[in-house]
Order: sequence, then C-alpha cells, then structure tokens
Amino acid sequence: MIVKLRKDVSEESLSKFIKTIKDLGLSPSDLSSGNSEKLIGLIGDTAKLDINNFRKIDIVEDVIRIQEPYKKANRKFHPEDTVVELANGVKIGGGNFQIMAGPCSVENEEQIIEVAKAVKEAGATILRGGAFKPRTSPYSFQGLGKEGIDLLLKAKKATGLPIVTEIMEISQLKYFEDVDMLQVGARNMQNFDLLKAVGATDKPVLLKRGLSATYEELLMSAEYIMASGNSNVVLCERGIRTFETETRNTLDITAIPYLKEKTHLPVIIDPSHAAGAAKFVRPLSLAGVGAGADGLMIEVHNDPSKALSDGPQALRPQEFDEVARKVFSLRKAMEA
Ligand code: PEP
Ligand code: MN
Repeated sequence: MIVKLRKDVSEESLSKFIKTIKDLGLSPSDLSSGNSEKLIGLIGDTAKLDINNFRKIDIVEDVIRIQEPYKKANRKFHPEDTVVELANGVKIGGGNFQIMAGPCSVENEEQIIEVAKAVKEAGATILRGGAFKPRTSPYSFQGLGKEGIDLLLKAKKATGLPIVTEIMEISQLKYFEDVDMLQVGARNMQNFDLLKAVGATDKPVLLKRGLSATYEELLMSAEYIMASGNSNVVLCERGIRTFETETRNTLDITAIPYLKEKTHLPVIIDPSHAAGAAKFVRPLSLAGVGAGADGLMIEVHNDPSKALSDGPQALRPQEFDEVARKVFSLRKAMEA
C-alpha cells in the first residue's frame, strides 16, 4: 500500500503517522526521494487494513492499494494449485478435471436415480441436484428440502457418485452431514454469515459467482470461507448479468484464466445457468475447457419438458453423453 501525504506536512505529524504505521505491525518506507511529494510505502500484511481509515487521517491525500485484499486465496502466498478432494478419491484442481452433472432440482426417487446412473455412465464423477432451491418466484417449485437430500443420498448409494447440493441458510447445515460438497449459490455469494458457517465445516465448498459480482468480490467471498478455517473451496463461473438479454446470462470466459492467475483455488464453469438454453451447453462447455477450467457443472434431466425447474437448459442423458465425449476428446487434444 502506498500513502501520499499532503505537501505541507510537519515533522511532528509525520513522526506521529510513522508511529501509527509501526503500531499496526507494518514497516514504513519513504518513497519520496527528495521531491516535494511525500510518498510512504507500507510494507507487510496490509490485507486486514481498512483503506478508508487511512483516508480519514488529516495529513493523508491519497491511498493506493498495490496488494490484493485477499491473502489465503492469493496465489502469491500459495503458488501451488489447491487440489480439493471429495469422497471416493474424486479430486478437482491441480490437473484433476471433473464433471458434476444432474438435474436442477431433485424431484423424485426415480428421476434422481435414473439421471445419476446415466450421467455416471457418460463420465460424470459428481452428482448434482438441488434440494433447497432459490427461485425468483415464491410460487415456483421450492425444492423437496430434506427429502431431496435423502434422495440424493440414495442416488449416491446406487452409483457411488459423491453429491453436491445447495445450502441456502445456516439452519439447513444439519441436513448436510452426509453431503460431499456444499454449494453456495450465486444469490448467496455475499451472504457472509453463511460463508462463515460453511467455512467452519471441513466439507468442500462450491462457491458460485454472484450475478453481478466482480472477480475481487468472488475472491473475497472465498477468503471468508478460508479465513474461517476451510480451504477446500472451488470457484464457479456461472454467467453474469450484462446488457445482453437474449441469453439468460453471459458466460465470462475470461474469469477462468484471470482467476487461475490470481488464486490457487480450482475454477469450474457452469454453462447451463450461463446460457439458459440446452443448445448452447456444448459450445460453452468446450470454451470453458479450452480456457483451462478444472471442471464443469451441467444440468441433466431425464425429461426436460417436465422438469420442475430450469427445463429449457437441461440436457437429456443422450445429449449429455455427447457433450462429455467432446469434452474428454478436447482435454486429450490439449494434453498433446
Ligand atoms: C443451481 O445450480 O441450481 C443454481 C441455482 O445455480 P446459481 O446459484 O448459479 O443460479
Ligand atoms: Mn438450475
């Protein structure tokens, strides 16, 4: 962090300011080199500093942050890729690529078991399915709740696939004991109490990017989880809201290389919620893989026309099989 002081600063105010910096455990370094501007560099861990507190000091003219405000998620302090491990040796990150697939919502036993078997057959290694659903309308299907989790566990038993499902509030944690990965959805990305609560568990967390969240805001949300003690975080780009209204959202492909440069956490792509249309899932999946994603999350339904949520973006098992094949061949070609 660099602090620019007012030109007319007195020696007395300067030494008082230097003392404040040292009391914060930082080393001040004079960067002014004889010219009339007074620039002081603050060396040390500035991640916890509130930049606005510095701006309030009367001799301070400006403050520039040159270090990111996130530390645990920052690749600078942890250069190696984090590998997040779910049950049954399924790993994401550090070269390990996984596809999570399943319906938007768990609807009944037959549906989730049928889809689980089909996606496993096609190469998915993690089963997704919503039990607690964040819906725009209070009149839309809200999910089966705890019963949905019980059905996911049945599907896990039948297939051996670890399961990922969304948690919407802290009080639901008690139902997630046997769930392999907690999903924090786009709408809850900045529900800081929820982030702290999932951070206090040792379960892998899938953190989805908020509809209008910046990269830094997403990384700061990951930092919340990590600062609470849980480093098993996977980031998910699922499309953001832009001026374009023809598609449900706009998939931000740049998020993959950008985030992977800034953080050691794995980054996956959800092409289904980005596009909102089944026909775009294949090209977006391939774009994500081409850009270096560590995995994909894809919605699959055995009968999309009857789906209780997100039917238009759901692939039929056969379509998912085709997408997975293309994805695996692209991965192979990229290794060559
Ligand atoms: C979901 O995965 O079903 C979901 C609701 O996703 P998002 O939070 O990205 O909208
Ligand atoms: Mn959905």
